[in-house]
Amino acid sequence: MKGHVARKRFGQNFLVDGGIIGAIVSAINPARTDTVVEIGPGLGAITVPLLERVDHLHVVEIDRDLIARLKKQHPPARMTIHEGDALAFDFASIGRDLRLVGNLPYNISTPLLFHLADYGPLVRDMHFMLQKEVVERMVAEPGCADYGRLSVMLQYRFWLEWLIDVPPESFDPPPKVESAVVRLIPKDPALLTAKDPGKLSTVVQSAFAQRRKMLRNNLKGILGDAGFAALDIAPTLRPEDLPLDDYVRIANYLTK
Ligand code: SAM
Repeated sequence: MKGHVARKRFGQNFLVDGGIIGAIVSAINPARTDTVVEIGPGLGAITVPLLERVDHLHVVEIDRDLIARLKKQHPPARMTIHEGDALAFDFASIGRDLRLVGNLPYNISTPLLFHLADYGPLVRDMHFMLQKEVVERMVAEPGCADYGRLSVMLQYRFWLEWLIDVPPESFDPPPKVESAVVRLIPKDPALLTAKDPGKLSTVVQSAFAQRRKMLRNNLKGILGDAGFAALDIAPTLRPEDLPLDDYVRIANYLTK
């Protein structure tokens, strides 16, 4: 693979399917002056076509060998390379109105999505390749087995759109799982009605601690019978039955 051995610990599955790469870049459709930030450029499968479309590109990469290659291939005037872990990276340091893109390393995709959720106000949109199973959890609706903490926390902050299904053969080496490209667009702040987003996060985390148990048990010590009654929410429901709005109502009820 162009002189680089794929590193499993960095979730390296390089895109080699020109059709899919073209479809991702078309979906992003960047203007020359957009602030595009690619997470994990790797060998440049998406990076190079993006560089044809924008004046300047930001990339965040952890693998030192790949960083060295990128430095050789792309002058700093065209590309700023942020060396390090995207999970710890301060995206606010780049600016505002960011357009985030990435064929994400699957081993860190869920924590990365939670990390990025905090940057909603600074982001115009995000286009990510993820394990299909993760995208299913992101877009899942109440009542589905896939509906969980990831669904509630991301749907609270973003509009989500499933864009493209991607088979394993589109990568080298091929992953063991199917993939999909999803678009996330931050919601208008007026729609983010949780008085304390930290409280919403705590409530949702506790509610889904044991998904087979009733809300009454999972929220023990947080929300009592009087609270359930005041909110008109049945304490016997399971966490996957409760829509996003009700989680926000619980969080606001508990926010002094
Ligand atoms: N974008 C390339 C492509 O589509 O062929 C590579 C995608 S590969 C699935 C994931 C990329 O993310 C690799 O370049 C890997 O080194 C990088 N990566 C892995 N963990 C990372 C992390 N914590 N922070 C930043 N980059 C990371």
